Amino acid sequence: MFVDIHTHIDNQAVIRILDDNFKEKVLKTWGVHPWEVNDYDNEVPHDLRSLGMTIAIGEVGLDKVYKETFEKQIEVFEEMIRLSESYRKPVIVHCVRAYAEIIEMRKKMKATMPWVIHGFNSSVETMRQLLRHDMYISLGEVLYRNENQAVNILKNIPMERLFLETDVSGRDIRDVYAKAAALMGCDIEVLCRQIFENYGRLEATH
Ligand SMILES: [Zn+2]
Repeated sequence: MFVDIHTHIDNQAVIRILDDNFKEKVLKTWGVHPWEVNDYDNEVPHDLRSLGMTIAIGEVGLDKVYKETFEKQIEVFEEMIRLSESYRKPVIVHCVRAYAEIIEMRKKMKATMPWVIHGFNSSVETMRQLLRHDMYISLGEVLYRNENQAVNILKNIPMERLFLETDVSGRDIRDVYAKAAALMGCDIEVLCRQIFENYGRLEATH
């Protein structure tokens, strides 16, 4: 089993699972991306209200590159956290230069659902702070673009908090697993089993 915790298919953020016969299962997520907060009209889509269709809230979060909308981003992210808690859905988090604020909001809102920080590409120290607040870490492009940092992260992350993803890279998720396994010096099967178990914990919140 290969779990791709965050990718996009037909303009939709999804979780994609590839089983051992390479049959795929696509699970939709729903959320207002921090780049799109100005288009959000506080209307929760039918899919989410009817529960069954949406596996997680995502991708949502904070992005400091878009400073001009940051206040609105916080407002919308708060709303996303509320939805996640009331529908008991995990959250796929997009975070750019706003880790402190993400942690602050998790504390402030007393959020209990699992949050996955997708596309993590920061220091081991930042990762440790996120882990201390019960978050999961998902790695993708950092494995290819910053190998030293990726090795450092992989050496220090507890396996039960790790996810892997392709996001918009267009890579094959099996290659991402192979790359991570090579950097960790472990078998790809071990990684598959562990990450599938981690995914089971997210799914179990519903
Ligand atoms: Zn994405």
